[in-house]
Amino acid sequence: MAKEKNLECSFCGRKKAETNLLIAGMDAHICDHCIEQAYGIVKEEILQSSKSTLTKELTIKKPQEIKAFLDQYIIGQDETKRAMSVAVYNHYKRLLQAKDKNDDVEIEKSNIILVGETGTGKTLIAKTIARMLNVPFSIVDATVLTQAGYVGEDVESILSRLLQAADYNVEKAEKGIVFIDEIDKIARKGDNPSITRDVSGEGVQQALLKLLEGTVVNVAPQGGRKHPEQKFVEVNTKDILFIAGGAFSGIERNISKRLNMQAVGFGASMDGESHDKENLLQYITPSDLKSFGLIPEIIGRLPVLTYMNPLDSIALRAILTEPKNSIIKQYAKLFLMDDVDFTISDDALDFIVDKAITYKLGARGLRSLCEAIFTDAMFDLPSSNEKVLNVTKEYCEFKLSNTKLKKLKEAS
Ligand code: ADP
Repeated sequence: MAKEKNLECSFCGRKKAETNLLIAGMDAHICDHCIEQAYGIVKEEILQSSKSTLTKELTIKKPQEIKAFLDQYIIGQDETKRAMSVAVYNHYKRLLQAKDKNDDVEIEKSNIILVGETGTGKTLIAKTIARMLNVPFSIVDATVLTQAGYVGEDVESILSRLLQAADYNVEKAEKGIVFIDEIDKIARKGDNPSITRDVSGEGVQQALLKLLEGTVVNVAPQGGRKHPEQKFVEVNTKDILFIAGGAFSGIERNISKRLNMQAVGFGASMDGESHDKENLLQYITPSDLKSFGLIPEIIGRLPVLTYMNPLDSIALRAILTEPKNSIIKQYAKLFLMDDVDFTISDDALDFIVDKAITYKLGARGLRSLCEAIFTDAMFDLPSSNEKVLNVTKEYCEFKLSNTKLKKLKEAS
């Protein structure tokens, strides 16, 4: 009993009676106060080391390395890959810039806007960059955003998603990447007389401004209005990289109008530059975005403007087989898991590309075409003794009836 009384914490010397809890080790004791203090130290240490690994990770990739990584997953789009590699590199250089109070040169954000038809790889590029950098990534659809107070999602919901992608680690989320899809859908519809209130247009653009530039936002971690009881979390957007994407369908008209005006005046006609009428997007400038209906302030906050080329048959063919996780490689892997040796002939691949073009299904359609062709085999082979699948053009023709094709077209 006397012995019990003499027990004390080996760290702070508190007597047992002065503690709520005294835990015995091999030949020492620790009290609840010291455990709490030690836990605080451990937490702080972990935070510090995760901060330094985050910084370390961000230093490694140079633009050429970023592009080489993108090349493994994305076919073509060379110019965009170069522009994006530089923008991302500069963005992370900006994050690493020494906080020297005497240095007047402050590097500004290099948010990006990608213009190109749907299915040309805009989301894929943004996603691949985030994967390479190992930073949280979220995609939001600009069409669901509305001005605060209207039915729909407030622009702050963009950050709820990012926070979720970062496992609610605010520090990580603050260095993440957000892809805002369909940014063209919030263009100003001022010319349209039937629209009286521009709820989802200019108002949303205005609301986005601060977010793009950098501001502290109160974010509902679980998202919007469904969980009114939740606590808000402060997220600073100054180091978040925003990549906006949109098809801007019809913008070619604006570009061509501008180019023609220049030709008539004293611009392009002087050096006799001829323009590729098939792919006018390559000449896009911020002024075309303005005439499409984006407000100048938004354009200014998305300073890196780049475009996606339409995908021709050569690109589609390459998308089927070349990327590191190409569609065909994925099917081969699925079949291999059932010990099925899967091969596909060149003319079968050409056939699939041909159908994707004829039915205007684009790159996304490649996947649905393959699904339609391979579903029977994927259903039957796992339960059969047949361990070989050689896909030929005839096999594809047989599996892809016109009704199936029509359905795919309707679904696209
Ligand atoms: P977007 O965002 O431009 O509408 P996505 O990035 O979602 O298009 O592309 C849809 C799918 O098409 C991708 O998941 C990918 O499988 C394929 N794809 C499109 N473009 C490319 C490309 N350039 N290289 C490789 N795959 C591509």
